[in-house]
Amino acid sequence: MKITSVKPILVGRSLLVRVYTDEGIVGTGEAGLWAYHRWVYEALRELSDYYVGKDPTRMEHHFQVLSRETHFMGSVLSAALSAMDIAMWDILAKSLNKPVYALLGGKVRDKVKVFANVVGETVEERAESARRQVERGFLSLRTTPMLPDFEKQTPTKVIKDAVAIVAAIREAVGDEVDLGLEIHRNLGPDQAILLAHELAPFRILYYEDPLVPESIAALEYIARHVHLPIATGERFYSLHQFKELIDSRTVSMVRPDLSLAGGFTQVKKIATVAEASLVNVFPHLMGSPVNIAAYVQFAAATPNYALMESLDADTHPLNAIVNQPPILENGYLLVPDRPGIGLDLLDEEVGRFPFQDRTITGWFATDGSVAH
Ligand SMILES: [Mg+2]
Repeated sequence: MKITSVKPILVGRSLLVRVYTDEGIVGTGEAGLWAYHRWVYEALRELSDYYVGKDPTRMEHHFQVLSRETHFMGSVLSAALSAMDIAMWDILAKSLNKPVYALLGGKVRDKVKVFANVVGETVEERAESARRQVERGFLSLRTTPMLPDFEKQTPTKVIKDAVAIVAAIREAVGDEVDLGLEIHRNLGPDQAILLAHELAPFRILYYEDPLVPESIAALEYIARHVHLPIATGERFYSLHQFKELIDSRTVSMVRPDLSLAGGFTQVKKIATVAEASLVNVFPHLMGSPVNIAAYVQFAAATPNYALMESLDADTHPLNAIVNQPPILENGYLLVPDRPGIGLDLLDEEVGRFPFQDRTITGWFATDGSVAH
């Protein structure tokens, strides 16, 4: 089998790729560098010169050639290679009439646990949002414990509000529901430590991205001082970065993004490195139902998979562009037995969802300096 063409597609807030073969099998993948989809779109167009004429079932070989030819790496190239890897696994699995999970070692779970986001602009709205998500069947919730314009507040007020939000959610949903906190890289090391101390009594499942991702040394500093399990890694894009993170013994969960950190081929290795250190995998997921479907295959076959985002899969606006939207039931995504990643793109529907570009605006503190 040979690849005959590679077609990147900007749709809604997502970047997909369709990979065509001379046997008529078409694979679909998605790229996860969501802030820079147009750049990855161009990377996929450039890379098509390499891929056309190649065997799509040699995923690892293609990754090795393209990542090691010049050793210029980075998130743009990684996102493009990830989308191609997902599409090539889709092709291989479809050619064998098997789901991708069957080729990754087989199912280790029957359904995939996901969490729901708790949102709201006031403490009361957060409590109400949490209650509603539990009524929908979710047993795992996540919130960012900050109110609008927190960048303009003092650290003392930010911590006070965070404690009020978490206390209100716990009060609303009780103690049998998991609650994780997404800090979105918004705190400095000392603030992260102070906040974690105050939140310790609320039975927090994970403390996600308390710091900017640049320094594992800074993460080691806060990990020595806090007693909340730390989850991080959604901006990392290579096996080697994850190895260093896992070896630092600072994290309970790593957050590789299948559509950024190398697709099934590389993220399966990241999961294995994590497994050997008793670290769980909490994949970072954004994007369309194509990504959701691919992640379901990965989670189904990964023993140390812990959790991922639901992305409101049942009501996702781009469900209209696929033939088999993912099925979300009572806080779990179902694992389809269909070939490949379990769905196909409805090419004729794609044009109904023009690409929504993202503009760079920045986040600023009261004095005009850049926050976060
Ligand atoms: Mg995050």
